[in-house]
Amino acid sequence: IEKKQLLTELHESGICKIPNSLTFFIDPVRILNRNYTQFRVSPSSYYSRFFTSNFTIDELPNQEHKSENGDNFRVSASCGKRKRNQKKKKIQQCYPLNEKELLADQRHQEIRPLLVKAHEELLRAKELLDVICELNCEIEGWERCVDLNSGGINEEEEVSFIELGKVWQAPLYEIALDYTQANTQVQINGGSLDTQHVNQRLLPLFNNLVSNETNYDMVAEFQTSQYILPKDSCFYMSELEQIHTLVPGNGYANSECGFNFIMVDPPWENRSAYQKSKYPTLPNRHFLSLPIKQLTYTSGALVALWVTNREKLRKFVENELFPAWGVSYAATLYWLKVKADGSLICDLDLFHHRPYECLLLGYTGKPVTDSELTATGKSLKDQVVMTIPGDYSRKPPVGGIFILLFAASTENLLDLLLEYVPGPRPARCIELFAREMMAGWTSWGNEPLHFQDRRFFSRN
Ligand code: SAM
Repeated sequence: IEKKQLLTELHESGICKIPNSLTFFIDPVRILNRNYTQFRVSPSSYYSRFFTSNFTIDELPNQEHKSENGDNFRVSASCGKRKRNQKKKKIQQCYPLNEKELLADQRHQEIRPLLVKAHEELLRAKELLDVICELNCEIEGWERCVDLNSGGINEEEEVSFIELGKVWQAPLYEIALDYTQANTQVQINGGSLDTQHVNQRLLPLFNNLVSNETNYDMVAEFQTSQYILPKDSCFYMSELEQIHTLVPGNGYANSECGFNFIMVDPPWENRSAYQKSKYPTLPNRHFLSLPIKQLTYTSGALVALWVTNREKLRKFVENELFPAWGVSYAATLYWLKVKADGSLICDLDLFHHRPYECLLLGYTGKPVTDSELTATGKSLKDQVVMTIPGDYSRKPPVGGIFILLFAASTENLLDLLLEYVPGPRPARCIELFAREMMAGWTSWGNEPLHFQDRRFFSRN
């Protein structure tokens, strides 16, 4: 495949299928930008962690893959400053594995060949690496709305919705939706405004479904900050206790029939989340009470759950969580994280910091049997997607990817996944514990506006 063709593919869809493989490289920024009409997610703010400005394609690392991992040992680094120094000196310590770690390692060894193969395919696709490198140049040339050299977005200036949602004034907070642009577009397109049309609407910010039902990006204001709401999107900002409001029949017209695509990225308890303290975490038992069954569309739903690589968590999901939600496991999507030069963000075999995360896919509602799926050629298969990661714990917009794959199916571009979503089209999608919004989606969590901050965007 010509470089130009790859470039076009990546530019147009944000997805590039590695030639002669089942592996995908994804540019999340381009996928996200399909949600917007007048704004663009700034690549320099999305990719602030892993793009380097002074790397050239000649410096591509010579990645060696070990076929064996010294089965009974893990490689680990110690904490703090010492950890960084030791890392620099490439000093690695070996500890014997305990029982759970052995099981986790076994799981890792089982999928390792799939990941190694996918990564090798990326490294062999020199044209694609060139194209990724060009993304880097694009970022440098981007008219920055954030000055990364001066430390990027200042977290202290950010509104903490998590904190605000807890104070006694929370029910009084209002967000102002600006309809000026949408009204202008209606007039430009020859429509006339009725008396109901206003240029600004004030709505309760918390425990309320806030929607942009127009076909245009909407700017919303809260306190001194602005937020960009994609076309045809809505959010419900609340704590876990209020999620039941979104269950069909509990109040909101647009959730009358439930959802047929449910994406969940729970705030699992783990050391990294605790140390970084970017958001609060919850003990596993809290997720058992998520009303997945009740949120499911009558004919069923595809459920996608992000999990960490900890064996204890994987066992909890398999033995307790999926059964409690009524989900039958179908396949796993592996998200392999690479740097701008195509190398993995860390060693594949580093025990506590794997360069990949797993999205478990399963069905809830009307059970879909394997034979049913196989008969229609729609049996879900494990797949690998590769991206350059964004901010801490920010997942690639997999939901967007599914929708895109579905949309792209008519062009025979990809092995579509959304066909596996039972029920109506367009799919009714909800993301639980969301930190951003997407067109056609309901985003629920205690900070779904987090990445919608105007400072992460630039105007077209
Ligand atoms: N998928 C998101 C992304 O890609 O950016 C990351 C989600 S993060 C793993 C989990 C989210 O759950 C955080 O935004 C956190 O604030 C939120 N959360 C934690 N406790 C919560 C609670 N009790 N109710 C609602 N949301 C909660």
